Order: sequence, then C-alpha cells, then structure tokens
Amino acid sequence: MDTPFLKAKPILKKLHDNGYEAFFVGGAVRDYLLNRDIGDIDIATSAKPDEIQQIFNHTIDVGAEHGTIIVLFDNLPYEVTTYRAESGYEDFRRPNSVTYITSLEKDLKRRDFTINAMAMDSHETLYDYFNGREDLKKRVIRTVGNASERFTEDALRMLRAVRFVSQLNFALCPTTLTAIKDYGYLLSKISIERKTIEFDKLLKGTNYQNALHLIVDLNIHQFLPGLIEKEQELMKLSNYDFSFLRTKEEFWTLLTYLIKPHSIEAFLRGWKLPVKLMKEVQRRIQFIDMLKDKDWDDEQLYDAGDELAVSVERLRVVLMEWANCNERIRKIQQRFAMLPIKERGELAVTGHDVIKIVKQNPGPWVSVALSKIERAVVTNKVVNERNAIKEWLLTCNQDFDRNC
Ligand code: ATP
Ligand code: MG
Repeated sequence: MDTPFLKAKPILKKLHDNGYEAFFVGGAVRDYLLNRDIGDIDIATSAKPDEIQQIFNHTIDVGAEHGTIIVLFDNLPYEVTTYRAESGYEDFRRPNSVTYITSLEKDLKRRDFTINAMAMDSHETLYDYFNGREDLKKRVIRTVGNASERFTEDALRMLRAVRFVSQLNFALCPTTLTAIKDYGYLLSKISIERKTIEFDKLLKGTNYQNALHLIVDLNIHQFLPGLIEKEQELMKLSNYDFSFLRTKEEFWTLLTYLIKPHSIEAFLRGWKLPVKLMKEVQRRIQFIDMLKDKDWDDEQLYDAGDELAVSVERLRVVLMEWANCNERIRKIQQRFAMLPIKERGELAVTGHDVIKIVKQNPGPWVSVALSKIERAVVTNKVVNERNAIKEWLLTCNQDFDRNC
C-alpha cells in the first residue's frame, strides 16, 4: 500500500471502531491501481456528516448538506463523504439534495465512470461492482450504467470523460462516445466554474492532443467559453509540445495566445479565472508579443523579474518550437543574476537621498528621478553606488525629462 493510503488508514480505523463502514474511493483507488501518483484521498463512509464531526477533532464543514466533511489528520485534509444516492437531478446538473444511504454499492453506482467507481479497504481488498478493473486494463472510459442517462443527469460528466482521456491516455468506449455526440449540447447548462476545473485538468494531461481533437470532433467546444468556432485554433494548439510547460499560468497563456480572442481580458473573464491568474496570463502575453523571436534586453529582463522571464521563455520555446529549452532557461537565469540590481529597493539611493542631492522640494519628480536612476543602473550607464549616482544625477541638470 502506498504511503498516502498508509497515512490515511487511521481514519478508516477510527470510523470502523465507531461502528461505521469506511473505504478509500474514487480517483485515488484508480490511480493506485494504475501505478500513478495518488492525488487527494477520498473516503466514503456510512457515518453521517454530524457523526463524522463527532468522531474527529479537526474537521471542516465544506458541504455537509451534500454529505462531505473534510477531516484534518496529521495536518493533511481528507474528504470524507457519507454514502449517498443522488436523485432529482434538475436541469441536467448535479442535484441540489442528496439522500444518505447505507450501501457502498449504491454509493459507487452514482459515480461517473467505472474506473472511478471502485472502493478499497485498508487491507487492499477491492470492491469493484462495475468492472472498473477490467476497464482499467482495457484503458477505456465507460459510464456506470447507461451513458445517455448518466450524461443527462449531470452533463459535466461529458467534459470529465474527455479530461480523463487527456490525463490517463485512455479511449472513450463506443457507447460513451456516442452519448456525448448526442448530448454534448447539454454542457451549455453547466456552470462555468465546473467546466473550468475540468478543462484546466484536460490542458495539463499528457494526452492533451487526443483530448483536444475529441473536443472538436464531438463539437463540445461550442459549449466552452470563448471557443465557439475556434476549431482551427484548437487544432493548432494541439500540435504544440506542452511538455515544457509547468504552471497553470503557462497553460492558460498558451491557450489564450493561440485562440487569439478579440479581447484577451474578456476571454479570460469568460472562464471566470481568478483575477490574479488573468493578470499573470496578460503579462506573459505582453512579453511574448513584445519579444517576438528576439532575445531579451536587460531592461526587459529586469521588468519581468526572473520568475516571469523564465516562464515566458518556456512559452516561447513551445511557440517557436525551439529545441534547447533548458539551455535557454539557464541563460535567462544567468543573465538575470548578473543584473546590477534586481529590484528598486536595491538602489544605492532612496527618494530622500535624491531630494538632498538635487536640493529641490519633494514632489512627483522624485519618483520620475528614481525610475530614471533605476533604468540607468540596469543598463550599466551608472554604477549602483551613492556617489556615482549623485554625480550622474547632477549631470542631468535637474531636468529629469531629458534623456540622461
Ligand atoms: P483527480 O485525480 O483528477 O482528482 P478524481 O477521479 O478524484 O480525479 P474528482 O473530481 O476529484 O475526480 O472526483 C472524485 C470522485 O467523485 C470521482 O472519482 C468520482 O467517483 C466522483 N465524481 C466526481 N464528479 C462526479 C460527477 N460529476 N458525477 C459522478 N461522480 C462524480
Ligand atoms: Mg480527486
């Protein structure tokens, strides 16, 4: 048993000791059987949310009305969810209310795909009522039960199917594929936030090429923000080598850059991305546009900062299909390390010093002067020493609009 499960075993034990059933379920079991890195560990139990809260000292109520409590154990969070049946799906979305049940099998039955519908106990015994193991071997994604019904219950599952194609390098089984063709339009009913989570995972999957092709073949891009009639752009995107990309910011930048929306901001807003992420993407695109295929100059490196510069360089390697990624990154890091200063705070003078040197009353000119000094230091026009800067400032003749 892998370490993450070993760490979580005491939670199962505690639930058992209190007379409840409890199992590892979902993605962690799937990834364990596939020998993949295990992400979050989810636990399903016959204990009700209030009972879970009574048993464990540290819990967070993240959705007790849906049966989910986070148990903090050894400083790690575990989602512990009461066995439940979902009924009364309305408007092709997740149901608003759930019914607690006592059967593990029924809890597994409401899950989306056979490979996600297995449970495992602390002795590694597998509870596999829907042949998930066999589908893992066959490398197929198949809904639990009738695909059309499961997709009309919750249309997001169709996008989840394609994101698992990307993450696991699996194929969609024919009935699941056909049902997506028939019901893909129901994705229009699903909240942007839920779609964004799945699309983000899809972009980061190793089999993103097939997944992007599938999205277009199945025509579901029409129901994703800003991707209507962007099939050519999506196909182009699928041809790039994402393997150099590391961060969320980079994946979303590549997507946005190649989709070429009329308004970058409106496109990113359409996905309801966090403001910080939107800004990071916009900054990266500004640098990509400014640099084109040219090398960075010192001012550009300084303005970007090393983290952003490296990230932009990784994106340029992908976009320009340059071969020597690591070498380029190393060069950027070396050049950044050699800059005379890395930020304004490292200047040998402050605003106060500048006022004293120039002997003028404080005013907005101080900030103009500081940024001129900053540029001059970064571009090696003046050494970052108090006296050198003083001399240089005086030669400016107190005229900071002049190009000193
Ligand atoms: P990942 O490793 O990427 O987190 P995961 O399989 O754990 O993948 P989650 O979105 O974390 O995916 O969901 C946890 C489990 O909950 C799934 O494995 C599946 O059993 C179930 N599940 C999640 N979303 C749905 C849904 N829309 N319909 C039915 N079951 C779902
Ligand atoms: Mg998960």
